[in-house]
Amino acid sequence: MKKRLVILGAGESGVGAALLAKMHGYDVFVSDMGQIKEEYLNELNNASIAFELGKHTVDLIINADEVVKSPGIPDKAPVIVQLKNKKIPVISEIEFASRYTSAKKICITGSNGKTTTTLLIYDIFKEAGLNVGLAGNVGTSLARQLACGNDFDYLVVELSSFQLDGMFEFKAEVAILMNITPDHLDRYDYKMQNYVDSKFRILQNQTADDYFIYCSDDLIIKEEILKLDVVAKQLPFSLEVEVEQGAYGKEKQIHLTLNTNIMSIFYHELALQGRHNIYNSMAASIAASVAHINKEVIRQCLASFKGVEHRLERVLSVRGMEFINDSKATNVNSTWYALECMQTPVIWLAGGTDKGNDYASLFDLVTEKVKVLICIGVDNKKLIASFGGMVPTILEAESMEEAVKLAYKSGMKGDSVLLSPACASFDRFKNYEDRGRQFKECVRNL
Ligand code: ADP
Repeated sequence: MKKRLVILGAGESGVGAALLAKMHGYDVFVSDMGQIKEEYLNELNNASIAFELGKHTVDLIINADEVVKSPGIPDKAPVIVQLKNKKIPVISEIEFASRYTSAKKICITGSNGKTTTTLLIYDIFKEAGLNVGLAGNVGTSLARQLACGNDFDYLVVELSSFQLDGMFEFKAEVAILMNITPDHLDRYDYKMQNYVDSKFRILQNQTADDYFIYCSDDLIIKEEILKLDVVAKQLPFSLEVEVEQGAYGKEKQIHLTLNTNIMSIFYHELALQGRHNIYNSMAASIAASVAHINKEVIRQCLASFKGVEHRLERVLSVRGMEFINDSKATNVNSTWYALECMQTPVIWLAGGTDKGNDYASLFDLVTEKVKVLICIGVDNKKLIASFGGMVPTILEAESMEEAVKLAYKSGMKGDSVLLSPACASFDRFKNYEDRGRQFKECVRNL
């Protein structure tokens, strides 16, 4: 009999998984509690895949041999609890799709810097002429790419902790852990260790032939490694100490040392500026070295990478004021890095849906650099309470348009206007992309 695969959530990864499963002869059923985008509905219909929307019909789900769950559905959702009680395996799309590829997988996780590092690595591998694919949280799902007949020698995969939670047999030949700072704790019973455990799943199934690239300046990572028996070859990167094999920063240069691939590049030569991007560039260059990519290719890519939308993205300079879109900064730590690399007085646009933020780590940077705080959330009480008395002027805006206009009026030549909200966007925007695009649009309209 055909194996029954039920897919919960009909987004990019769910529909991709459905197409791939259908191709491999599964009895496929897709169920989405909400609406399904028209393009995805058409695809399901065209492939004659059964689906439902607006509900989860338990009887049609509980008879699955295996379930692929969208990372957005929490483990506490009633349908997931029922599946787990019945011991039906619940996996993520990457776990499922990776069964159908023999590509070497370079996997990136961490609280911040995943997408930037993923795209940087992909860029270097492509430039080196390798047959490389991009998957995970970015762009087209792996399952869909495989269903379309694309396969690769290398795959660069961005993995969130939610995806890692649904991964069991998967192995990363190269695992990269950027950093661990509190995020998404609502999904981890508010226990930091649960979140840390989730991130460290990136090491599961690795052997002594595999690699673990990580930031050894990160105290949480360092401590956790001491507790674990890491079997893969460790390649740390650091801005604080010299490492023998890996990468480190010294005298304003990145030094890469891996077997015979030894090279240095000055920080000012990097296309992506800021301390966090030195980390991202170090991680990417180690990964490229593991794949024996020529150091000149690595150097050239680090120097010419175009950057990623909504991550410290320079929008425009209007009357000598620089407008910067860092809408992807949805937690306090990413905003810390954004403020840290600002070289001018800052008009800071922040706020949104609070995820249990503790703003204390920003106090020094805000006192030093921020002259105006414009709150863009629906409820700004916590921001105002945290930064009142610290920032000379605090204003509230009802919309992005108003926020940008207020910023423009409050600033002068030489200031930077930084949208780096430290919060999720859902109170007022569809998502962080919508927030960033609205910002850019309003800046262009000034
Ligand atoms: P992720 O995919 O993990 O969310 P992104 O590369 O999209 O990470 O960057 C998200 C935010 O974090 C951006 O605002 C960016 O400026 C900041 N950031 C990027 N890299 C790092 C890093 N290594 N450490 C801390 N913050 C970072």
